[in-house]
Amino acid sequence: MRTKNSEYRIGGVSCEALAEKMGTPLQIFDQEKIENRLQEYQTYFKSHRFETGVIYASKAFLCKAMLELLEEQNFCLDVVSGGELHCAKTSSFTMSRIFFHGNNKSQAELEQALEYGVGTVVLDNPEETELLISLAEEKRKRIDVLIRINPGIEAHTHKYIMTAHLDSKFGISIRKKEEIVNMIRSIEKSAFVNFEGIHAHIGSQIFDVQAFREEVRILAEFAEVLEKEDGIPVHTFDLGGGFAATYTAEDSPIPIQEACRAVLKACEEEADKRDLTLRRVFIEPGRSLIAEAGSTLYRIGFQKDTESKHYIFIDGGMADNIRPTLYQAKYNCDNISRLNEAKTVWTTVAGKCCESGDILIEDILLPPCENGDLLLVYTTGAYGYSMASNYNRLPRPAAVFVKNGNARCVLRRETFQDLEALECSDPVEI
Ligand SMILES: *Cc1c(COP(=O)(O)O)cnc(C)c1O
Repeated sequence: MRTKNSEYRIGGVSCEALAEKMGTPLQIFDQEKIENRLQEYQTYFKSHRFETGVIYASKAFLCKAMLELLEEQNFCLDVVSGGELHCAKTSSFTMSRIFFHGNNKSQAELEQALEYGVGTVVLDNPEETELLISLAEEKRKRIDVLIRINPGIEAHTHKYIMTAHLDSKFGISIRKKEEIVNMIRSIEKSAFVNFEGIHAHIGSQIFDVQAFREEVRILAEFAEVLEKEDGIPVHTFDLGGGFAATYTAEDSPIPIQEACRAVLKACEEEADKRDLTLRRVFIEPGRSLIAEAGSTLYRIGFQKDTESKHYIFIDGGMADNIRPTLYQAKYNCDNISRLNEAKTVWTTVAGKCCESGDILIEDILLPPCENGDLLLVYTTGAYGYSMASNYNRLPRPAAVFVKNGNARCVLRRETFQDLEALECSDPVEI
């Protein structure tokens, strides 16, 4: 939002003031945008036929302030590690609404899930199934399970973020029906573990609603086989996430209302057509919920001209946002210290890390910049902070929620002392 004196505000708070008070790089979240997205999903992901639930994929961005917003709006939560579980537990998130994912959960993590009273474990493989059954028995704790199926769909996106081709490390190939049936037979024998249904996740940053329809069709076909040939009722479909967000002008995601409607309609039609016992449908958005609500504020430092490029250097980079380096993710940005100036210079925004791949944005039109200007990079809410590292011993940035002119620091900036706190010189007795 631009004001008269071209002071850039998010949630009614001046970015200039935030930079002054909190330093840079700074991860800024527009709280109202998050709340609106949560609300949209809850409003539109509803069906007359099924119970529905929206599961936030916490790997996109997780902290206690985020969990509070999720709890307020009755969201479920997808976690993939003991660390994410711990975060949920210590912020009093409702444990029965947690779905525990992952292809290699440790015994300690499965025990943690049982002790915390996690609602659902999404089983990835037969070994895990046996382990969970024995642990649940031992602890005499009940738990629901879904089985992660790999439906073999290649959703249209960068190949490194594609998960459901048949050689993926995730889930069990839909072609291995016997293996899946054997898992379910073991589960059926357990008095503590309850088979609820199947899960799939076909990729990320998906723009084509057809990919989700195809996913539903394939899962429904599989559920029909399980029900009719093996007498195994499949009450739940968890269709995963992958709904796209807008990073640059080239992206046009499926509107949430349309995506929700399409997924549920496909489930309704398939359930009718195949006479399925399907009762519950879940989706697991991460990126589409949080990406656009976040932006990162950097201060511009030195500049450099090479033969064909004009570089501006920022005080962060791949340590706080590895996505461009990891999979050539694209971003848009503005020099918010010069909002009224013409964009005349093709500029490459580079980070301060010791990697030539540490380029945040390649060739974007900006006004001529000066040392000390503020650069705001948009749509950094998902997989930015959560993938942040201490590469080059850079402390991780602070994160702030802004709303109605108020700012609230939700994750403080790391300090050198935080980094130092891990140092030790303890003898290890072998
Ligand atoms: C990553 C992931 C999601 C969320 O994906 P987005 O692209 O962020 O929506 C959901 N479910 C599973 C199992 C995942 O691995």
